[in-house]
Amino acid sequence: MSAHDVIADLRALAARTSDAHGAQRVAWGPVWRDARRWFDERLSCDGLRAEVDAAGNRWVTLPGARPETVVIGGHLDSVPNGGWLDGALGVLAGLEALRRYKDGTPPVTLALVDFADEEGARFSRSLLGSSGASGSLVPATVRDLVDRDGTRLADALAENGVDVDRMLDARPALDARRPRAYLELHIEQGPVLESMRRSTGAVIGTYGVERHVLRFVGQAAHSGSTPIAMRRDAFLAAAEAALACRDIARRLSTPAAGVVCTVGTVAVEPSIVTAVPGVCEISLDQRAIDPATLQQALADAREAAARAAAANGVSVAWRHVWRIDPFHFDAGLVGLCADAVHEVTGHAPRLPSGPLHDAVEMGRVMPAVMMFARSTNGLSHCQEEDTPEAALEATIEAFLRLVDKTLLAVAATP
Ligand SMILES: [Zn+2]
Repeated sequence: MSAHDVIADLRALAARTSDAHGAQRVAWGPVWRDARRWFDERLSCDGLRAEVDAAGNRWVTLPGARPETVVIGGHLDSVPNGGWLDGALGVLAGLEALRRYKDGTPPVTLALVDFADEEGARFSRSLLGSSGASGSLVPATVRDLVDRDGTRLADALAENGVDVDRMLDARPALDARRPRAYLELHIEQGPVLESMRRSTGAVIGTYGVERHVLRFVGQAAHSGSTPIAMRRDAFLAAAEAALACRDIARRLSTPAAGVVCTVGTVAVEPSIVTAVPGVCEISLDQRAIDPATLQQALADAREAAARAAAANGVSVAWRHVWRIDPFHFDAGLVGLCADAVHEVTGHAPRLPSGPLHDAVEMGRVMPAVMMFARSTNGLSHCQEEDTPEAALEATIEAFLRLVDKTLLAVAATP
């Protein structure tokens, strides 16, 4: 059975590229290159071969009766100490789809792409290869990023045969394929499907993100001699703002569309046990699938932070870090995806994705959709990452059906 072959491939890849702490396929490094070599060996068993584009992505193409192309994507790179399914599930399920069609001719061309550096684990720039292929990358903004050892991104890519200033050449190469649909199978990396007791879901889109740093400034003072009423404690203002942001996310969440916010970093000054914090900086990462809701969450957070600052006699300043709009996948493909999931599992849950994926970059070029496999305990980016075997099999079967349906749908369009 074909899902078994995919799972066997995944286990073989994990065995070859993991250590006691998990998968170590960090993009542009030796283990990642070895994973790609392993993939070449798998391909050659089936008489297939990969070709690399200008952004370092590798493509395997099965020409169809018509030249329009259905693209299946994934990524072999992982975070350090990563899981066995994140990214690799998409690539190896895609390989199984190619195997099923390789002895005949698919109605339209079928291509599998292994994107380079989806994770951004080394240079903190996610979706690097797919943004080269979509044309959204601005090479000047990434060229001089450095890793922990001080190696420049441009040099690490050059070591792997990729010229950062030519990465955008991947876009015309993609256009020449006449891409008509993009499909990606991925582990959910969250607890939603598990809480619904479902193995598989159709993904409606990805959350938009508003990311800021808030700097509260009060007055550092002695912890023994300063009465509570006379303090201007920057940390307490930040803490009140953080709690208020949690309330905002709760209030704006609906059962169908959650809103989340995270204060992931806190830094106080002077950071002494006997000093009232005079300065406190927190990060605030807010996410929602509905653009108006995301803007409302941001506006409410600004108001709440101002109130918390005033209540504590401190000032607050906002620094913008990063933002991205919510992205909605193609309604027609979401419908096909839900149909495929329903046929195999008897249910068709639809859910948004909190994390970003290469599918968002490909969605700029062609209609796109993703399918999610349930995550055990909602865990990912760690060696505990898993999907129960029966759920994994059902999801792979559903994804292969989605490939069949999409090839037929694209072939049926004039
Ligand atoms: Zn991934």
